[in-house]
Amino acid sequence: MHVLILGGTGEARRLAELLTGRALRVTSSLAGRVAAPRLPPGEVRIGGFGGADGLAAWLREREVDAVVDATHPFAGTISFNAALAAAATRVPLLALRRPGWVPGEGDDWHEAGSLEDAATLLPALGRRVFLTTGRMGLAAFADLDDLWFLVRSVDAPEPPHPARMEVLLDRGPFSLAGERELLLRHRIDVVVTKDSGGAATAPKLAAARQAGVPVVVVRRPPVPEGVPTVAEPEQAVRWLTDVRDQGSFPDAG
Ligand code: NAP
Repeated sequence: MHVLILGGTGEARRLAELLTGRALRVTSSLAGRVAAPRLPPGEVRIGGFGGADGLAAWLREREVDAVVDATHPFAGTISFNAALAAAATRVPLLALRRPGWVPGEGDDWHEAGSLEDAATLLPALGRRVFLTTGRMGLAAFADLDDLWFLVRSVDAPEPPHPARMEVLLDRGPFSLAGERELLLRHRIDVVVTKDSGGAATAPKLAAARQAGVPVVVVRRPPVPEGVPTVAEPEQAVRWLTDVRDQGSFPDAG
């Protein structure tokens, strides 16, 4: 059985680890956005497939028996491509998607529909912004000349980006103590995040709550309908076991 994991997340790596040593062929796929990605164990391919048709051709040529879309919740295009390619080839598809964050008592969250929407909310909320949405999409904040930005990303951002910014190259997991220290040291008065979910990058939310700092939370993009979805890599292993044993399209659960 050949399993394709569409990756780029900690959950995708964890799934590849869990499948190591089983009687399966596993290929993990990365988009190639990060210069030095954390690689999962096993076979890895890097780069786009060439849209849904390219992915469908890849599934046929490599005789893939099941696909797990374990991409980031904000990687909307590849998830739709995976749904189209799986339907065209009749290859079983599972989405492994961590749940979004929910606000708790004391949180001052402001929901935004997009990065552009987040940018329009910012001037009313603060002057010194901790921007944690990654290096892509900084153009949305490029015209906010009155604001100062602390931009955290894995690789250095390229223009267009805000004129007044400091870049912090780092990747999670982050600690609560570290996030509190960052907010204090840079006198941050507003945080911007995607609703990525998961524990690795959640401490910034607790740090903001404790510091009384508002958080602009960008809502997730839509996901394809009808794709069975699980939240944990262990559930994906069970689903794959069912696919292997039944040779059919089981429900997630
Ligand atoms: P996207 O907008 O959904 O995808 C854009 C294109 O990148 C896709 O059409 C596909 O190219 C290629 N692609 C995306 N994921 C791929 C994968 N796992 N393997 C092979 N090709 C892939 O995705 P994105 O937002 O640019 O994210 C790119 C990758 O970074 C994803 O794998 C995601 O898991 C990871 N990531 C994204 C975010 C985020 O905030 N967006 C955060 C952390 C990690 P073709 O059409 O040519 O196949």
